[in-house]
Amino acid sequence: MPDSTFASLPLAPELLTNLESLGYHAMTPIQAESLPTMLAGRDVIAQAKTGSGKTAAFGLGLLSRLEVTRFHVQALVLCPTRELAGQVAGELRRLARTLANVKVLTLCGGAPFGPQLGSLAHGAHVIVGTPGRVEEHLRKGSLSLAKLNTLVLDEADRMLDMGFQTALEAIIDETPSTRQTLLFSATYADGIRLIAERMMHEPVAVEVAETH
Ligand code: ADP
Ligand code: MG
Repeated sequence: MPDSTFASLPLAPELLTNLESLGYHAMTPIQAESLPTMLAGRDVIAQAKTGSGKTAAFGLGLLSRLEVTRFHVQALVLCPTRELAGQVAGELRRLARTLANVKVLTLCGGAPFGPQLGSLAHGAHVIVGTPGRVEEHLRKGSLSLAKLNTLVLDEADRMLDMGFQTALEAIIDETPSTRQTLLFSATYADGIRLIAERMMHEPVAVEVAETH
């Protein structure tokens, strides 16, 4: 049986002690399937049902690559809705609370633009946002993704269903080709295959099938 303890992964000690204190004693199946590959730097397409711990999977992946002393946007997580972006940002902040001063900023539509400009001016390590608003900030020059290390497409199937394909492509065009791209989804819709082919570099696909 594969080792499902977080301690089997090359994670910083601060992250491991925090996971213990959060009550995350063992990896969920999708975490165990995806994290070793993610931490090795590969692009990953991960598919597992809702509630299976996908946020911590990509969260630990992106936090591991973060250089906290460098204050620029290193990771971007795109989510289909403001509510989901808020939940993801909350989980990332919980996971990062033992790392010194990791700044996670949300950029979502439906929220006023002005305060987001102010927050961006102060800088952030991680942005969590919805595609439309992130694209708007890129167009206006208030956000730069020139030094991005990790791009996460969370609930990619829903983002495609909601018509975010063009915004996703415009955003990806503004990121370095050397980035790591992580795609998370509850289903493997046709559009996902297309996005993967166009936006990912030799992705490794992992899937945790539903057990009945
Ligand atoms: P998904 O994105 O797959 O729908 P979430 O990332 O929202 O799932 O996680 C569902 C719940 O599981 C959250 O409340 C999260 O805190 C919890 N969780 C995630 N990983 C673990 C773990 N390894 N051990 C215990 N709880 C976990
Ligand atoms: Mg999720």
